[in-house]
Amino acid sequence: MLLEVEGLCVNYGHIEAIRDISFGVEEGTITTLIGANGAGKTTTLKTISGLRPVRAGRIVFDGTDITHLPPYERVKMGLSQSPEGRGCFPGMTVRENLDMGAFVRKDTRTPAYQQDLDRVFDLFPRLSERVNQMAGTMSGGEQQMLAMGRALMARPKVVLLDEPSMGLAPKLIAQIFAIIDEIRAQGTTVLLVEQNAAQALKRSDSAHILETGRIIRSGPGRDLAGDASVKAAYLGGD
Ligand code: ATP
Repeated sequence: MLLEVEGLCVNYGHIEAIRDISFGVEEGTITTLIGANGAGKTTTLKTISGLRPVRAGRIVFDGTDITHLPPYERVKMGLSQSPEGRGCFPGMTVRENLDMGAFVRKDTRTPAYQQDLDRVFDLFPRLSERVNQMAGTMSGGEQQMLAMGRALMARPKVVLLDEPSMGLAPKLIAQIFAIIDEIRAQGTTVLLVEQNAAQALKRSDSAHILETGRIIRSGPGRDLAGDASVKAAYLGGD
């Protein structure tokens, strides 16, 4: 396993947001967490990124226990997150946002940096047309793409994507999922949180359903997508 979460418990004060969660993410796969609002999906991603402290349990990445490492050390090791919603720096241009994603590498004038920038522009041509636009003036979909692009600029082994299709028009949702497939095809492991469960499950090697801070079901995405009770509860019965 490239990433392993073992017995994770996370609190906000007295609220137990995550209760004894364990799962693994295998290299080269897409792993998805689905669940209702407030189930603890975002908290799980934030804790893996180091933005929330753990109350109990541990997180192992690439053979190293990272449970208590600061976020930037995790980014350096190859773990980067694309946050939910408009998580860009609004007062910075597209290019400056992407440079922020590459901050841990300190090599923004090297061929490797240029290669990564080209990769992001290939995945998101819209961003290349708007390099000098202020992020805060872009549409929701464009900002979503920028947040994903910024996460990829750290050249991660695992990218954590928090609801990348949230609030997007159907055509753009299909585009985002195609891009997620492409990111995986290029060799980056994906840990995905999605409300758009049907789309997410059908392309997931592995998936977990969270309910009030616990994992209640796990399995290959296609199996869960075909399960009658999962369909009824999470896929709108379709
Ligand atoms: P959503 O799909 O609505 O984003 P989620 O599955 O990502 O939901 P979380 O955002 O992880 O869920 O929230 C898990 C629980 O922790 C919820 O009960 C939520 O109210 C609580 N929670 C989240 N953030 C905070 C916070 N900053 N302070 C207090 N409680 C919080």
